[in-house]
Amino acid sequence: MPRTATAAVVPEIGAPFELTGVTIDAPRPDEVVVRLVAAGLCHTDLSVRAGKLPSPFPVVLGHEGAGVVEEVGYRVTSVAPGDKVLLSFTSCGACGNCLAGHPAYCAGFLPLNFGGARADGSGTLNGAEGPVAGHFFGQSSFATYALADERSLVKVAPDAPLDLLAPLGCGVQTGAGTVLNVLRPGIGSTLAVFGVGAVGLAAVMAAALGGPSRIVAVDVVPERLELARELGATDVVDARGDVAAALRVLTGGAGVDYAVEASGNVGALSAAIDALALRGTCAIVGAPAFGTTVPVDVNGLLGGKRIVGVTEGDADPRRFVPLLADLVARGALPLEKLVRRYPFADIEKAVLATERGEVVKAVLTFE
Ligand SMILES: [Zn+2]
Ligand SMILES: [Zn+2]
Repeated sequence: MPRTATAAVVPEIGAPFELTGVTIDAPRPDEVVVRLVAAGLCHTDLSVRAGKLPSPFPVVLGHEGAGVVEEVGYRVTSVAPGDKVLLSFTSCGACGNCLAGHPAYCAGFLPLNFGGARADGSGTLNGAEGPVAGHFFGQSSFATYALADERSLVKVAPDAPLDLLAPLGCGVQTGAGTVLNVLRPGIGSTLAVFGVGAVGLAAVMAAALGGPSRIVAVDVVPERLELARELGATDVVDARGDVAAALRVLTGGAGVDYAVEASGNVGALSAAIDALALRGTCAIVGAPAFGTTVPVDVNGLLGGKRIVGVTEGDADPRRFVPLLADLVARGALPLEKLVRRYPFADIEKAVLATERGEVVKAVLTFE
């Protein structure tokens, strides 16, 4: 049955979130209705709202949902009503990359996660004045209920703290997955993280699990750099200086074996590429506005250097998110140092605090 929910609708590009009633479509055979308990706020939500990433409007955003399964379609087998779940990005499950275990590189990633509708183009949400775009990352979780694809759900333990784990679905998976799935830094290697917001700090925490002997955090905010140290960074560098030069000094002239660019800033990306050691790899995680280009010194790359773009930590959420949840439970991924909780009704306060850099990871909580 369709059901009503309270959703934070963005009426048009740049407009504030408006809490209003919407009707959510009944679940199709492979869909699940989730009652939200918490939802993380990610920079991608804010980039879409600002019109920097493509989306139809009005729209319900939110893609780090966490909640309890309320209803399932008849083909759903992996979760049942009452299960606690985390919501992550969705994928088609049928293309070559999905079949190869790389759903973040699904051929349908953009339309499925940013298109505002299901794969067949059908909408999932209606407001008082007509259709509202939904299905954002297969969930649109800034609402009291979300209609999610089974493929985007990760079941967690009955005692899992959902208001702490919500960010695993995107931000933490992205930062940690970039290190653990893509870069896989070896023992004694050096790694620098550019931009230590939620994604960058997740990369620092993942690097601190083992491998690198030197983990360098680069940012402009002193408190963030201090937090990065607490979470495992061995050194910090102020991003306003000559960062590539500073990294060469820290690495005895060699440069860094691995760089994670998580700021979305093109200057930082240039510095990250410049700072690479021979055979070093730069992972691009931060997304600037569509159409952004960066000049690269081609000869500078000939020493076996690689630049790789990474989406969602190249993770399969149903395999990777439970591993992260286990690390959190064991105290190895101290997420509580990043998270600040806000009641859903205070979503604009959470956005303001995030934009001002006062909070690393805002998590909205639902009653
Ligand atoms: Zn696919
Ligand atoms: Zn995100």
